[in-house]
Amino acid sequence: MVFETQIVAHKEVAKGTHEVSLKRPSAFAFRAGQYLQLALPKLAHSDPKGRSRQFSVASSPYDMDEIKVVFRFSGSGFKETLINTPIGDLVQVEQAAGSFLLPQKLTRPQVFVAGGVGISPFMSYLQQRIDDVWEQPVTLLYGNQSPESAAYLGELQQMSKQHRQFSLDNIYKRPTPGLFAKLTEKYTDAVWWVVGPPGMVSVTVNGLHLGGISADKIMTEPFEGY
Ligand SMILES: Cc1cc2nc3c(=O)[nH]c(=O)nc-3n(C[C@H](O)[C@H](O)[C@H](O)COP(=O)(O)OP(=O)(O)OC[C@H]3O[C@@H](n4cnc5c(N)ncnc54)[C@H](O)[C@@H]3O)c2cc1C
Repeated sequence: MVFETQIVAHKEVAKGTHEVSLKRPSAFAFRAGQYLQLALPKLAHSDPKGRSRQFSVASSPYDMDEIKVVFRFSGSGFKETLINTPIGDLVQVEQAAGSFLLPQKLTRPQVFVAGGVGISPFMSYLQQRIDDVWEQPVTLLYGNQSPESAAYLGELQQMSKQHRQFSLDNIYKRPTPGLFAKLTEKYTDAVWWVVGPPGMVSVTVNGLHLGGISADKIMTEPFEGY
């Protein structure tokens, strides 16, 4: 199903990182972890890849007013046009899709690994569940070049103070398989969820395998296109 809906806000949420809020159509349903396809009616800057892109939803499924997506500036014609589309203008979104479904009941510790705007599905999840009682701890390993380029850093720090089962560990160096192999020693019994550009996802998964984590305990969402 395709919905026509309005842009309601633009916001820079970190250096070079843009959040777009859309009015949530009443029939738009999604679960934390899913993505949508966003299409612009026409492009003001040409783009060989066309007038639509896939984005994970960054807002809570409980937010019935808005849906949010977040991306880095890249210079592509699509993003240039979207950033400059005025509030109130119409765009199209397809019904949410995807099988990267973050767990509602925690039967073992969880480790979330986000590379840059790979934070998006985890923001959706954490905002939805932050007031719940969690049966198991959740750790977010959040990789960025610098604190200035880490989207939602303040909110995440606040969440880690608010929820005793949630901890945040920022990584400001280039990920290597060795880094993640070492980290497996700290989270022996965990399920791993890895989101970000395909290169970052594959480096992380290689490291987890080196550290002895089996494939059934690793869930991934590579942002194809980066
Ligand atoms: C399931 C799924 C979920 C996703 N979720 C997200 C998400 O939440 N956030 C997100 O950001 N992405 C997400 N992606 C990826 C997204 O769909 C895009 O492919 C990605 O953001 C790159 O789009 P782009 O328009 O920047 O680059 P593309 O047009 O695909 O170009 C690739 C790169 O080329 C360069 N480039 C292109 N055009 C120009 C130009 N005119 N001038 C200079 N340089 C240029 C830029 O460096 C750009 O990054 C997701 C993908 C999938 C499959």
